Amino acid sequence: ILRLEAIRKKFGEHVVLDDVNISLKSGEVVAIIGPSGSGKSTLLRCVNMLGPATSGRVVIGDLVIDEAVPPTAQQLTQLRRSVGMVFQSFNLFPHMSVLRNVSLPQERVLGRSRKDANKRSLELLARVGLEDKADQYPARCSGGQQQRIAIARALALEPQIMLFDEPTSALDPELGLEVLAVMQELARSGMTMLVVTHEMNFAETVSDRVIIMADGKIIEEGASREVIRNPTSDRAKRFLKAVK
Ligand code: ATP
Ligand code: MG
Repeated sequence: ILRLEAIRKKFGEHVVLDDVNISLKSGEVVAIIGPSGSGKSTLLRCVNMLGPATSGRVVIGDLVIDEAVPPTAQQLTQLRRSVGMVFQSFNLFPHMSVLRNVSLPQERVLGRSRKDANKRSLELLARVGLEDKADQYPARCSGGQQQRIAIARALALEPQIMLFDEPTSALDPELGLEVLAVMQELARSGMTMLVVTHEMNFAETVSDRVIIMADGKIIEEGASREVIRNPTSDRAKRFLKAVK
C-alpha cells in the first residue's frame, strides 16, 4: 500500500537520507527507531511532502510521487487524503472547540456538510475516549487528551495510512500510555501505520516490523522481537543497549 523507493535527501552537502527503501503492506504496523539525528522525522516529512526529498519516489496505490519534482495540486490533494500524520506537538487550533478541530478539516478537505462532519467527529472522539470533551477548548485538555484529539482529527479524513512522529515523547509517561492504547487499538483495527517511536515496548509488542535507522540509512530491519532482541550489526547493538 506504501512504497518508499531510493529516498535520498541532502541539506546542502549534508546527506540526511541515503537510499532508504521501505514498503508497507495494507494493515501492517512498522516502527522506525534509531538515534537522534538519524533522519527519522525527515523521512516521514518526505512521505507526505512536507519536506520533499532530493530524489526518490513515494508510491501509494496508483499515486506515484517523484520527490524531485513539485507535485501537482491534484497529487497533493490525493496525498493529503491518503496519509494522516500525528506529530510530537499536537498542533490543534487553540481558538476552536475540540469538536470543531475534528470537524473543520472534513468540511474543507472532504466537502462534508457541517452536520455529517459533526456526527463523524463525535464517533471518532468516542473512539479515542473523549466524547465528553467535544465542547471544550484544547487548552482545557491534558497533553494526552490533546494528542488523542489530534489522532481523531487525522482519522477524520479517512486516511489509508497513518504516520506518527514520536507522538508520546512530549508527554508524561502516564499520559503517553493513554495515547499508546489508542494507537494499539488503531493497529488492531487494521490501520496501516508507520510509527517513529522511542517506546521500545510499543515497537516490540504492537508493531509487526521494526526498522533501525542510523546516519540516514536503514541498518537493520525485520520482525520486531527478532530485531530488538537479536540485532546483528554492532551499530544496532550499541543503539539498543543505550535505550534499554
Ligand atoms: P530525533 O530522534 O532527534 O527526532 P531524527 O532521527 O528525527 O532525530 P531528523 O530530524 O530527521 O532526525 O534530522 C536528521 C538530520 O537532518 C540531522 O542531522 C539534522 O540536523 C538535519 N536536519 C533536519 N532538518 C534540517 C533542516 N531544516 N536544515 C538542515 N538540516 C536539517
Ligand atoms: Mg525526529
